[in-house]
Amino acid sequence: MKIQKLVVHHSATNSVTTKRADIERWHRQRGFSQIGYHKVIEGDGGIVDGRPETIQGAHARGANHASLGVCVVGNFETEVPSAPQIEALVDVLTGWCNTYKLDETCIYGHFNVPGGTTRTACPGRNLKNQLPAIKQKVAARLRLR
Ligand SMILES: [Zn+2]
Repeated sequence: MKIQKLVVHHSATNSVTTKRADIERWHRQRGFSQIGYHKVIEGDGGIVDGRPETIQGAHARGANHASLGVCVVGNFETEVPSAPQIEALVDVLTGWCNTYKLDETCIYGHFNVPGGTTRTACPGRNLKNQLPAIKQKVAARLRLR
């Protein structure tokens, strides 16, 4: 599977109380074999591995093939992502671009990923509106390669 799209999500749950283990439990309750995301960025900005990147994710219906999903913990319709979370997100996305020979144009929000069939506000307006700046930061880091 050649990775072509990197998809940013939010958990749509409280950034303080939600941990990777909670997401894993919710996804198993929905019948997934394991957590659907490949990386989780917790409220403190800590980066936690999710599903192995060699296994197709379950995070963006219609666009799971050839994509990786990262979930930033928080409800960014109402909360604002923390600075450490944004830095961690730039780190994750830059790392994936390096690993899979991609650039910032491969980065999407769940709401606008090509092929996606879910109508969604994910990753929430307060993260969605930072995606252009996040992509610029990734692009700047990639130019330093
Ligand atoms: Zn999502």
